[in-house]
Amino acid sequence: MFYDVFEQLCQYKGVSPARFSSDTGIGQSTISMWKKKGGTPTGGKLRDTANYFGVTVDYLLGESPFARCPGCGFEYNEDDLKENTAHRMRHDKWADAVSKFGFCWSYIERERVKADSRTRLEAGVLDESDAVDEYEQIFKALFSRSLEGSDYSLLHPPFDNYVAMLLNQESWQKATSKHGALNTLLKKYGTRPGIPNGTYFNPSDTPTQKESPPAEAEGSVLDEFAGELIAAYGDKPIGFDDDDIEDIAAYMKLVKERRERKKREEGK
Ligand SMILES: [Zn+2]
Repeated sequence: MFYDVFEQLCQYKGVSPARFSSDTGIGQSTISMWKKKGGTPTGGKLRDTANYFGVTVDYLLGESPFARCPGCGFEYNEDDLKENTAHRMRHDKWADAVSKFGFCWSYIERERVKADSRTRLEAGVLDESDAVDEYEQIFKALFSRSLEGSDYSLLHPPFDNYVAMLLNQESWQKATSKHGALNTLLKKYGTRPGIPNGTYFNPSDTPTQKESPPAEAEGSVLDEFAGELIAAYGDKPIGFDDDDIEDIAAYMKLVKERRERKKREEGK
């Protein structure tokens, strides 16, 4: 029955049917019809409901085993064990990123925040400190998207550095200055190179990393190290901070180089 799927999606997203009603404008009476008479939405209501939960219309109608998780946006086949495991691992990585960076908004949350902030900015009636607040919300949304794009990499720059990288771009300077927010943002975050264009952080764009091995190699060294740590300590979270992570990455690079040199020497 449609209502069962609806109820599950509400639960997953952490909203009540009443909240769903006020967010989408779909009346409470419609919802109680779904519940009591086994009704199914059609047309615009069907599309709006699917968009609200970030799932496909087919999924909503129970015609597809492919669900898009309303939490992380991952699309997967619920009947497939491997895909379920991959999905769980994604949530584990996400949780690790949240504990390191303090937050990482879901697709639904960041799209809503971005849209709300843009509406308020475009209305053009904000004073400087309100405009700064709105831009910070937008930056948090973009940061969350960039972090997700990096597969929740713990090597992603923290929020403050990320903002400084965006403020290094002429387009963001223009946009924020239009609303009188640029000077305050510059004072608070400064600028730094690292994201030459767009809003996704790509480790190979960072000038200081140009001479280090490609990100993939570093990642695999870290993964290897993480594997060793887990073997040694069990899989309990360990409270590393930014500097520790950088030190570990640098150290692992040395270890890897040493190992490779040894391999080469032994091969002779
Ligand atoms: Zn998910």
